[in-house]
Amino acid sequence: MPDKTLFEKIIDREIPADIVYEDAQCIAFRDINPQAPTHVLVVPRKPIPTLDDLTEEDAPLVGHLFLVAQRIAADEGLTGGYRTVFNCKADAQQTVFHIHLHVLGGRSFSWPPG
Ligand code: 5GP
Repeated sequence: MPDKTLFEKIIDREIPADIVYEDAQCIAFRDINPQAPTHVLVVPRKPIPTLDDLTEEDAPLVGHLFLVAQRIAADEGLTGGYRTVFNCKADAQQTVFHIHLHVLGGRSFSWPPG
């Protein structure tokens, strides 16, 4: 068995996290280093390393992650809007190689991103 990713350890409750939602396909918890008043990571249970590793069979799963993001935004009262981000590999500063959808809100964001 390959080593577990950091996020698999959170899923398996080996590392604590502030979990805000979970279901059969994914888990969502607050980022340890929040970049906005709301900063939640939506993580599939399936440990896909990067967006480049997605296959056609993962399409429903990725759609589900966005629906969970929508639900979290509603739960957090982000009526003014929010930002969702998948960082992919080095140029985007991906640091945890288990895909995760960042859900950021509670302040206004600039564009283009840094
Ligand atoms: P990435 O840079 O890969 O897109 O995002 C990884 C995110 O995971 C970062 O925002 C980072 O703060 C968060 N993170 C790293 N380690 C932990 C941890 O142990 N617990 C939680 N809750 N978040 C973490």
